Amino acid sequence: MDAAEFRRRGKEMVDLIADYLENIEQRPVYPDVEPGYLRSLIPEEAPEEPDTYEDVVKDIERVIMPGVTHWHSPYFYAYFPTANSFPAMLADMLSGAIGCIGFSWAASPACTELETVMMDWLGKMLKLPEDFIAGTHGQGGGVIQGTASEATLVALLAARSRAVRMILASDPQRPETGITSKLVAYSSDQAHCSVERAGMIAGVRMKKIPTEQSDKYAVQGETLRRMIQEDKAAGLIPFYFCATLGTTPSCAFDHITELGPICNAEKIWMHIDAAYAGSSFICPEFRPLLNGIEFADSFNFNPHKWLLVNFDCSTMWVRKRSDLIGAFKMDPLYLKHDHQESGRYFYTDNSLFRSLKMWFVFRMYGLKGLQDYIRKGSNEVNETLLKRINNGRKIHLVPCQLSGQFVLRFAVCARTTESRHIREAWRLITQLAEEVMQELPH
Ligand code: PLP
Repeated sequence: MDAAEFRRRGKEMVDLIADYLENIEQRPVYPDVEPGYLRSLIPEEAPEEPDTYEDVVKDIERVIMPGVTHWHSPYFYAYFPTANSFPAMLADMLSGAIGCIGFSWAASPACTELETVMMDWLGKMLKLPEDFIAGTHGQGGGVIQGTASEATLVALLAARSRAVRMILASDPQRPETGITSKLVAYSSDQAHCSVERAGMIAGVRMKKIPTEQSDKYAVQGETLRRMIQEDKAAGLIPFYFCATLGTTPSCAFDHITELGPICNAEKIWMHIDAAYAGSSFICPEFRPLLNGIEFADSFNFNPHKWLLVNFDCSTMWVRKRSDLIGAFKMDPLYLKHDHQESGRYFYTDNSLFRSLKMWFVFRMYGLKGLQDYIRKGSNEVNETLLKRINNGRKIHLVPCQLSGQFVLRFAVCARTTESRHIREAWRLITQLAEEVMQELPH
């Protein structure tokens, strides 16, 4: 394929993508295929002679689509979302074209530098403490990971390294293996399975902290404190706690304002995994859910879940960059360059040009656009809906204001109201809400 054909095929591909997304609702959201379905549809070996592009495109519908779970179908309600937007897809095209690998600042300065600045932009949207923002006097900053699982592991390895260093500083004769075998990490029994797996990879004990339904499945400070005391009494060394804001099963929020001071007092690294819920903290009304971040050593969430940046883009901030650099520093001769120290930012500098898609998305939506996307419905939409409901004169509601939000109150007032009236009212409200939503510009 030469540049002239690429121009043509590229435009066709953009049309194919736009058609796919515009009509995705027509496709069954979950594929009806058996394991191994694909092998029988394509040859056993790669072709000796080249296929034509037309043949390849034809096979998208024949081979691929029957086995696709359509995550962007409006009928997809599984897992957590994975983000998707046109600006991010365009940025990915450009990233593919530049095709650089930013393993050091010199390998592609824009790659390292844009990532640093995008992480600061996003950190400021979240109102992170200044310690986590690279472009300030602080010692911290952000780095993009592939997944939240990676971020949890990276934080755990950095915490392990810091714990070993701290113990050796006060007891240099102690053998390192004797230290690591005593280390103990903690997470909620509701934490994502990647936290337990991180413990397996790092070769450290990972204890699950029990949670209760009556506490909305949040880890309580008292429980963590008790486990730490018991473990210390048994000769173990507590060194890491992974808090979750928005757990996978029930979106529970651990009480980090209570847990953080315990971790700080015990010199335990507190990592916060907010893989899904983190995107919502860009809205001032949800930001209180992140209170307690000031006690954390590291924090991560996935813009590739809910902030319109396509996979992969998992953003991780640390309070002290040196904790990560110290844990993973490698300096082979082939990576040395003239700006080694001033250019160095992280443990690998940065890898792919993932920041490009953040840049495109942040600029083309703006903070307001991103907040509107999280809220999925503005005050104006709710006001329109209320007008529509009351103009119909079938049911009657009044609004109220809650933390700046225009809220529709539904109060069951009359002695004569029965369940069937409420069901009927709900049907009417949802029907009118759908009409209002469909009239909104996309
Ligand atoms: N943490 C939480 C709370 C999650 O809900 C998930 C996935 O849904 C993860 C971590 C894992 O995310 P990733 O696939 O980016 O590793």
